[in-house]
Amino acid sequence: MTDARAIAKARLEEHPRLALGTFPTPLLPAPALFGFQGPEVFIKRDDLTGLAVGGNKARKLEFLVGDALEQGADTLVTGGAAQSNHCLQTAAAATRAGMECHLALAGEKPEELTGNLLLDTLLGANLHFCGEQRKGESLGALGDELTKAGRTPYLIPYGGSNPVGALGFVVAGLEIAAQLEVLPRRLTHLFIATSSAGTQAGLLAAKALFDLPYEVWGVGVDREDFSDNALHDRIEDLARRTVELLAPGQAVVLPRIRLLGDYLGKGYGVLGDEEREAIGFAARKLGFFVDPVYTGRAFFGLMSSVRRNLFSPEERIVFWHTGGIPAIFHYGTDLLAGSVD
Ligand SMILES: *Cc1c(COP(=O)(O)O)cnc(C)c1O
Repeated sequence: MTDARAIAKARLEEHPRLALGTFPTPLLPAPALFGFQGPEVFIKRDDLTGLAVGGNKARKLEFLVGDALEQGADTLVTGGAAQSNHCLQTAAAATRAGMECHLALAGEKPEELTGNLLLDTLLGANLHFCGEQRKGESLGALGDELTKAGRTPYLIPYGGSNPVGALGFVVAGLEIAAQLEVLPRRLTHLFIATSSAGTQAGLLAAKALFDLPYEVWGVGVDREDFSDNALHDRIEDLARRTVELLAPGQAVVLPRIRLLGDYLGKGYGVLGDEEREAIGFAARKLGFFVDPVYTGRAFFGLMSSVRRNLFSPEERIVFWHTGGIPAIFHYGTDLLAGSVD
């Protein structure tokens, strides 16, 4: 084992962590996806992580909440879109850890609470509506207010994406590598929906540190992320800082960042025919659900890439299902194919 690898392994194991999920999540074969001619496909079921109604943020929150408790915090503060899956999972994590939760959410308080907002409310989270700000821009101010009120807040950035949160996906990288090890050796492509960068950066940091046998393809869901290479640079920076957290001062080469920006539709969270097609296909052919904002886009991206023969039958694809299920109940019957945009 190289120095960097041994150091990283030890630091990962020592890092404060609160068990919140059920791991490893299943890796299910999906042969019905493209018939027997195409590449072998599996679904990595992080929609079944076991915190709230599942989702990828459970992995990051194990490390973030572990850190918060270690620091003596009694309140978790985070923010995002009104239908943020990250905010929901943070609210559930706070409940599990016996902490208070404050969420800075985009928009105004709607008349009817649907999807994730309904579940946030059931979990007892304090909701703060912040108008235009959908990426937790006002977390600092909210934290200051809570401190003045006598709380000890722990601020979790948008999407839980900082080096501590990304550790959850370093663990995930080791987890999938162990699941792939029992299968015949093949080049494996991981397909993920990517947005705040922590998922992709963590998987890349794991690949770099532990020499893991996969390529990571991030499917973008937010058009803003593609101006000035914003998301690419965020992933690179976060992967670098995550590697530095685990193996400080070691020379570790980061893998190439692969981003697909062809499936951005009409903007973040705007439902179109491509997402409807992916949602319908996953439900009718495979018996599971993808969501309209993240996994529906990534799944459509995967379907199109396979249709365009980007992968050979000798290769393997793992579709990483990152969750997002409650949004289905927010969009309602608009999700059905044949609805008008
Ligand atoms: C947050 C989220 C993602 C993106 O993960 P990042 O780490 O923010 O890039 C993908 N899918 C779902 C369902 C999410 O909630």
